Amino acid sequence: MATERTLSLIKPDAVEKNCIGKIITRFEDANLRVVAAKMIWLNKKDAEKFYSVHKGKHFFETLIQFITSGPLVALVLEGDNAILKNREIMGATDPRKALPGTIRGDFAKGVERMERNIVHGSDALETAEVEIPFFFSERKIFAERNVQTS
Ligand code: ATP
Ligand code: MG
Repeated sequence: MATERTLSLIKPDAVEKNCIGKIITRFEDANLRVVAAKMIWLNKKDAEKFYSVHKGKHFFETLIQFITSGPLVALVLEGDNAILKNREIMGATDPRKALPGTIRGDFAKGVERMERNIVHGSDALETAEVEIPFFFSERKIFAERNVQTS
């Protein structure tokens, strides 16, 4: 299996619910390693850029409002098959459809608003390659090959 990197966002609803640590534990338990992390409050311009693929969709405005409503935690996760594995443990996009045992199923239980779904994860290699540099320069990613030994 290929070692991959994926961008994960622990969204403002999760930060508000005080479950950052519990979510990171889910990643670690799935053998995904945190190789970069920071807390950041996105402004409207950056949020619109990050979600530009959804521009024009009916939920775009509410999505931007939500993602800029408070700080979030951006992470780079690394591991075997990281992109698909992360999508699996996140669960379905719609919290009402996410199964128990998934991050969304457990932390967005009873949530009716689709944008309030706790986490984001890159959906493909090409997406990860754009989304990771949006938040982190290569030297801020502490994969084994970047860790300084001197
Ligand atoms: P993400 O990109 O956050 O990992 P996803 O790939 O499962 O989630 P997308 O289709 O890329 O879902 O949508 C991006 C985000 O936009 C979703 O996570 C959700 O927060 C929001 N969203 C998607 N569809 C809707 C909708 N119909 N109504 C409200 N918000 C939506
Ligand atoms: Mg997506």
